[in-house]
Amino acid sequence: MKKYSELVITDLKAAAKTLSNDDLVAIPTETVYGLAANAFSENAIDKIYQTKNRPQTNPLIVHLHNFEQLPKVAKTIPKQVELLAAHFWPGPLTVVLEKSDAISTKVTAGKNTVAVRVPNHELTLALLRSLAFPLVAPSANKSNHISPTCPQHVFNSLKEDSPLILDGGICSKGIESTIIGFENHKPTIYRLGSISKEAIEAVLGTSVQLANHEVSSIAPGMQKKHYAPRTPFISCTNLQEELKKYPNKKIGVLFFTENPLAKQMLHYRILSSSGCVEEAMANLYKMMHELDELELDVILSELAPEKGVGASINDRLTRASS
Ligand code: AMP
Ligand code: MG
Repeated sequence: MKKYSELVITDLKAAAKTLSNDDLVAIPTETVYGLAANAFSENAIDKIYQTKNRPQTNPLIVHLHNFEQLPKVAKTIPKQVELLAAHFWPGPLTVVLEKSDAISTKVTAGKNTVAVRVPNHELTLALLRSLAFPLVAPSANKSNHISPTCPQHVFNSLKEDSPLILDGGICSKGIESTIIGFENHKPTIYRLGSISKEAIEAVLGTSVQLANHEVSSIAPGMQKKHYAPRTPFISCTNLQEELKKYPNKKIGVLFFTENPLAKQMLHYRILSSSGCVEEAMANLYKMMHELDELELDVILSELAPEKGVGASINDRLTRASS
């Protein structure tokens, strides 16, 4: 098994060469680290599914270096997508469009739509510009683990299967992209992420609905339990009451902000001392990883205020709840 120090690189040329040989490279983005492969190579795509133990039914997001590349992977580009791209790209907004013939159904899990975005990370944009193909890049962790927000998280999750990791520091946003589709021209959010519903509505000048994954399978992979730590994890609205249920247990608490209860706790993290949802989002997975490593009996978490990206934080906390 290769050591961490042997896998972490900063050399873009080495990363490009590896990808051109149909091998995988973990890449930094502003959301989380991605496990990247040549989007035009079925052989390389197979390696992503094997490495992650990802179900074949869960499609991949295609990463481009700019909007002008979009016609290579998508057949038609609605006006609303032009508007959103002009405002949010490069950035953490993924759009679902009718796929072009160049995109294999291996990318899309058999669907005729493709999910696409332009990530906002200088290193990865430079890498994409140097390649003759786009990249597919799901999060660089084993399926159902917490997503990685730094190179060490990638290595800890993938272990002996870890590919080269392009070191781009800590992910600034810290949770996955927001995914939007256009069912019958009606903008629909398939996954809440690091861009809020409100921000998208402000740009489109119209209300946007949230997909109901209980009744629809438009965005596979959005099953309830996901993003979960190994330690039993419970998100709650009344922390004080919940704490009483675990006498004599090794408890960890993930507070949204400063809380007098923290004084009683041995193991805790505070997502944002000032109560800023953006800061809380950037700290979320990092602190979930940290608490998960403490071999606790249970982790309790407080929900964020349900506005802006607070709703996205709560989506992840609820999914992590067992
Ligand atoms: P990630 O695991 O963060 O890379 O995100 C992948 C998710 O994007 C999948 O689990 C789906 O929910 C969504 N997705 C990817 N491709 C499509 C598609 N063609 N149609 C709908 N949703 C998609
Ligand atoms: Mg993932």
